[in-house]
Amino acid sequence: MAHDKSFNPFEMARAQFDKIADMIGLDQGTRDLLRSPQREYHFTIPVRMDDGTVKVFRGFRCQHNDARGPSKGGIRFHPQETEDTVRALSMWMTWKCAVADIPLGGGKGGVICDPHNLSQREQEAICRGWVRQLARNIGPVADVPAPDVMTSPQHMLWMLDEYEKISGGHYPGMITGKPVGMGGSLGRTEATGYGVVYCLREALTEMGIAPQTTTASVQGFGNVAQYAIELYHQLGGRTVCVSSWDQAEQTTFAFYRPEGVDLGQLKAMTDRFGGIDKAQAKAAGYEVLPGDRWIDRDVDILIPAALENQITGQNVDRIQARVKIIAEGANGPTTPEADAVLEKRGIFVIPDFLANAGGVTCSYFEQVQCNMNYFWERDDVLARLDNKMTSAYQSISKLARQKKIYMRDAAYVVAINRVAAACRDRGWV
Ligand code: NAD
Repeated sequence: MAHDKSFNPFEMARAQFDKIADMIGLDQGTRDLLRSPQREYHFTIPVRMDDGTVKVFRGFRCQHNDARGPSKGGIRFHPQETEDTVRALSMWMTWKCAVADIPLGGGKGGVICDPHNLSQREQEAICRGWVRQLARNIGPVADVPAPDVMTSPQHMLWMLDEYEKISGGHYPGMITGKPVGMGGSLGRTEATGYGVVYCLREALTEMGIAPQTTTASVQGFGNVAQYAIELYHQLGGRTVCVSSWDQAEQTTFAFYRPEGVDLGQLKAMTDRFGGIDKAQAKAAGYEVLPGDRWIDRDVDILIPAALENQITGQNVDRIQARVKIIAEGANGPTTPEADAVLEKRGIFVIPDFLANAGGVTCSYFEQVQCNMNYFWERDDVLARLDNKMTSAYQSISKLARQKKIYMRDAAYVVAINRVAAACRDRGWV
């Protein structure tokens, strides 16, 4: 289902946009501008493989809108990466930066490849090749990439190094998500997952629910999921299920333990791509369930934190009556069809581009620190992050209550209005 060929994320992103454009009566010119990326780059990356052959990879970069500042967005390495995934993700980045109210636009990039099957040297060659194709079109004042699914701080550093070789100077603000000590910001690794939980904490407070009384089921066990679980547990919550992609069996498994998962223990049985070892998990008392069973757990909170297109018309009805909040850590996990059902059922959704905006907000902090060449302490970074996320959450939730609209719609109204205003103020439309 994760790679369902009939699912087109760009069509979904456009459908979400069109709905709000109608709602706020957006003029046709602005609509046409915002429905499509401003610029797209499609290119090839030839790589000499370890066995001596040359393999050609396909790379992309999409700059959806930069009216509010340089484009910003991750680079994803994925075997099922498509042009339309990159387009959709770049559009969502525009809204995300606007919702978080940071002075950046939306971009996204990718390479069709599977890092599971590539050596470190081959991955380095892809990173450097990606930058060689784009060096004139990205950079600290134009477009600032970052990590995404299956890309890491090491990948970012190789990319920076290639960019600096070409540019002949040091430009640490060219890319974010770098290793700490090499231009990275403290707090960036945990930022997205923590940001999800800052929003969740606010939602629970509004509902008058104590986190200590709640349970959660999480899809995915990568960067976002692990840190969301960490902070959620610090607030007193109990995660009873996580799920991950099994590389060997090419399917997903849910790891269920009603008394709560042990984060540290699970991490120790996880590969660097967030895949959990089934045999070790079983030995540690986890029930291992094949398929998307994370969704039908009897919990208060669902946190999809894996990929897009996970809560769909096919499985939305399996969400239990007890579920009160869905905090979207992943980008685009819920299809419009499923969304309509959630809205009708009154499940409170913290939409992706608000819930997971902590990553880009901290990336923005990283860029600011790089441009100043002065780095903040972790607590300082996280306090600023909490501030930004909390005020973003509160302004959206206030609008949703005032206008009696769905949270996703409220977030879109704020984001689209901000971007449209920037386009108008610049005289583009
Ligand atoms: P990651 O590569 O670290 O982890 C992904 C996890 O999802 C892994 O545990 C993998 O096993 C699991 N997974 C993959 N397919 C699955 C499936 N079909 N069912 C269940 N589990 C599956 O990635 P990440 O950085 O944690 O990103 C997760 C999501 O969050 C993506 O949608 C990404 O775009 C989004 N996101 C990430 C960041 C960030 O800062 N990392 C920021 C914003 C949004």
